[in-house]
Amino acid sequence: MISPKKNGSILNQSVLVLNTNYSPMDICTARRAICLFYNEKVDILESYSEHVHSPSVTLPLPSIVKLRDFVSHNKMDVILTRRNLMVRDDHQCQYCHTKKGPLTLDHVLPKNRGGGDAWDNLVTACRSCNHKKGDRTPEEAKMVLKRMPKKPNKIHYFQQFIHDKQGAWRPYLFMESF
Ligand SMILES: [Zn+2]
Repeated sequence: MISPKKNGSILNQSVLVLNTNYSPMDICTARRAICLFYNEKVDILESYSEHVHSPSVTLPLPSIVKLRDFVSHNKMDVILTRRNLMVRDDHQCQYCHTKKGPLTLDHVLPKNRGGGDAWDNLVTACRSCNHKKGDRTPEEAKMVLKRMPKKPNKIHYFQQFIHDKQGAWRPYLFMESF
């Protein structure tokens, strides 16, 4: 089997998962994609330039995989997690625009005033802005949000995973024609 030790962090590379009709479904790690491949759940459409090695096999590191069986699309919501909120906010304090950590999550309407854990009430904030704002609304604290927080659209969310190595993803995420 593929040894995590030998292959290190490349197994954590992002892999785009497409439905049988090529619509984008999910993003998973290369580790998970390889597992799905060995279980004959997916075909590999595109690979990165790196390879993963096991004692017996060398496999190109998958970049895009396609499911073999159609999955209905009810689970298209982006799950509200700390990581996903930070991705939506580009790992940037939404008040002072710094990208220097440590970054925290701020409730726009403070929790003790009824503000909930929701896409439209949570933003990424640096520790000092979070502290400065305290139990106030942005208006009360005279702090301006970079943009109003909202639930990400899944396609837009996937697009944020595209860096130099994910050029092959672009056509599948409606960023250029085939
Ligand atoms: Zn800040």
